[in-house]
Amino acid sequence: MSTINNNINRNINELPQFKPIKPCVLLYIYRAQAQFVLDELITEARKTKIFTIVPEIGSLFSNYMFIHVELVQDSQAIIALIEYCTERDRNSSYYHIVHNFFTIIFDSSKIIQTWGNLLDLLVPYAQYGLFASSDVSQAQSINVQKIFKPWYNNIFRHDIQCQQYRKYDEIDSSLCTCCHRPYKSSSCQWSISRAIAYTFDERYDYYMHDIHKCLAITKLGHVINGKWTSQKLNAYKQKQFIKKKNP
Ligand SMILES: [Zn+2]
Repeated sequence: MSTINNNINRNINELPQFKPIKPCVLLYIYRAQAQFVLDELITEARKTKIFTIVPEIGSLFSNYMFIHVELVQDSQAIIALIEYCTERDRNSSYYHIVHNFFTIIFDSSKIIQTWGNLLDLLVPYAQYGLFASSDVSQAQSINVQKIFKPWYNNIFRHDIQCQQYRKYDEIDSSLCTCCHRPYKSSSCQWSISRAIAYTFDERYDYYMHDIHKCLAITKLGHVINGKWTSQKLNAYKQKQFIKKKNP
C-alpha cells in the first residue's frame, strides 16, 4: 500500500485526473433563468440532506456574488452555480427564491460540508441579505478539512521502519519518516489537492474550477462519513484502475 503511494507521491503530476464519486448535473442559477429550473432547485433542496458549499474566490464584490452549492444526493450530485447582483436582483422575485433556498439549506435538519470553517467562509456573504450570519452559525456543519486528518491517519498508519510505528498512529510528528504522511506537525492542515492525491491517487490541480472543488470535498466527505476502511478504499481504487484500462 505505502509502496504504491511513495511512487505516486513523487509523480503527482502524472496521476490521472480527479474523478467525482457520482455523476453530476449543473444548474446555472441567475435572474433570467427559466422559472422551472428555479422551482426545481427549491424542490431538490427540500429533498436533499447534505450540501457542499464553495464560495468562489474573488467573487465577492460590493453588489455581486457567485457561490457554488452542491446538493449531495444518493445517485447524483446537483451543483447550483448561484449568481446574485444586489442592484439588479434585490427587488425581484428572484431574490425571494434565492433567499428561500438558503433558508432551506441552513435549516437544522440539513448538513453543510465545507473545506474550512463554514462561518469564516460565509460571513462575508451575509452583506447581500440572502441569509444572516446567525442563520449560518446555527446550521449543522462539517469541516471536511478538519475531519480528514484523523480519518486519513487511522487508515494510513506509520510504516514499520518509522519511529512512530504502533505508538502514535493518529498523530503527525516531526519524528515520522513515512512518505505517505506528508505533514509532520499536528497543527498542519491538509490541502485539498494533497488529500485527493494521497487518498485516491488522483490529480486535483489548484487551478481547477470551483465545481471540482465542490466535488472533491463531497468525495472526501463521502469516504469519511461512510467510515471507509483501507480495504474499501483499495477496492474502489482497484475498480477505477480497471475502468481506466478497459473503458
Ligand atoms: Zn510515520
